[in-house]
Amino acid sequence: MAEQITRRDVNYSDWYLDIVLKAQLADYSPVKGCMVIRPRGYALWEKIQQNLDRMFKETGHSNAYFPLLIPEGFLHKEAEHVEGFSPELAVVTHGGGETLEEPLVVRPTSETIIWSMYKKWIQSYRDLPLLINQWANVVRWEKRTRLFLRTTEFLWQEGHTAHATEEEAREEALRMLDVYRRFAEEYLAIPVYYGPKTDSEKFAGAVTTYAIEAMMQDKKALQAGTSHFLGQNFAKAFDVTFQTAEGKLDYVWATSWGVSTRLIGAVIMAHSDDNGLVVPPRIAPTEAVVIPIFTKKDNDKIADYARDIRKRLINAGISTEIDLDDQSSPGWKFAEWELRGVPVRIEAGPRDMKENKVVLVRRDTGEKIFVSIDSLANNVKSLLEDIQQNLFNRAKDFRDKNTHYTDDYEEFKKLIEEGAFVRAPWSGSQEVEAKIKEETKATIRVLEDDQQKHAEGKTCILGKEDAKYIALFAKSY
Ligand code: AMP
Repeated sequence: MAEQITRRDVNYSDWYLDIVLKAQLADYSPVKGCMVIRPRGYALWEKIQQNLDRMFKETGHSNAYFPLLIPEGFLHKEAEHVEGFSPELAVVTHGGGETLEEPLVVRPTSETIIWSMYKKWIQSYRDLPLLINQWANVVRWEKRTRLFLRTTEFLWQEGHTAHATEEEAREEALRMLDVYRRFAEEYLAIPVYYGPKTDSEKFAGAVTTYAIEAMMQDKKALQAGTSHFLGQNFAKAFDVTFQTAEGKLDYVWATSWGVSTRLIGAVIMAHSDDNGLVVPPRIAPTEAVVIPIFTKKDNDKIADYARDIRKRLINAGISTEIDLDDQSSPGWKFAEWELRGVPVRIEAGPRDMKENKVVLVRRDTGEKIFVSIDSLANNVKSLLEDIQQNLFNRAKDFRDKNTHYTDDYEEFKKLIEEGAFVRAPWSGSQEVEAKIKEETKATIRVLEDDQQKHAEGKTCILGKEDAKYIALFAKSY
């Protein structure tokens, strides 16, 4: 058998870390809170990057790169931004053996350096909109870290756009939220709730923060992506004005949006099982693995048969590996490839070879399917689509089954305690929000659309005030 991993029902957190470590996605680094992303983990990140990058370009964005180091003074230009990020900053005070005149912060996010450049690049409405994305690493000095989900240094993309009108910038923030929703659902096979955050949960420096929120298998929420409408806050901080079409001078409107390597943690926690990693085919670096079943004789022929299978699949555009190891038992190898999360396993033994057949095994259900080698490629293709859809449906059923509505606080507490997402009416009071967090550890993940309509005639979950919103509460990562 391959290495054992802790069962989910025994210890969910150990189960998660076992998968990360034993499927060789990442490892701990010598610096606490940082992580080393290993080739199998990085290959997943590359699949995420490729698909998102295409979606960003389809919506008109271009990539650029800004420096890692930011003059500390830049962060002080936007009051809320510096207040929010100060506790998490890594600061460089020495360079080349000398004390620096002005300390430099390692970017925790790049609004400040980017808007200092936008001041140079934007003069007129003709320079707008400016739609830039950067793929980079950032550092936030996190106190409690966990591989992929929350690390001190992480990889991400950050979009930073500049617009002539408030309306355009708000549209952009929602457009990118929708890109994230689509990407989560169509590629990661993770259904998400989406909407605005409350003021206490929003990004430091934003007017409105929108988020996508996913349910993990322990029924906790994971914030999987954010899109911020920044108003004119950064334009004012960096004095970025432009001449409007009417010849007036106005401050520029802004958005920023990001997703990170946390998405890999989301995929693990949403789909994997007690046998290891489960990866949705559309982001699987390896979609299929061919495992020849060696016996005492004819091993060369069986290896050739397996190579032929691989070639047919590669020719059909399916990324396929082959496991020619003849020292380990088939059972051991099956378990190993299950742990690694490859969506389809193809077994080929002497009998299959004689009959021109192969056995396909689905990673998501374990179901075995016998097919002839001539229809192999088409069968694998449709199987991959089926697995993708099944993973989404399974995650959505689980989420929907564990999402409840209540306006009774006792029931609310019970549901949160047992583990669930709870929709509940809320007055908008920050004291109520804080009290619920203190008593139940649940926070408001997002507010629902059409708030006014849905909340009409309802009373806040805590207290006697009229509800203004329907809020989605959950414990979260
Ligand atoms: P923010 O700039 O705070 O809106 O975060 C942008 C994205 O990065 C969100 O999708 C977060 O979930 C993610 N993120 C924030 N902090 C971390 C961290 N310490 N490790 C990994 N991802 C993070």
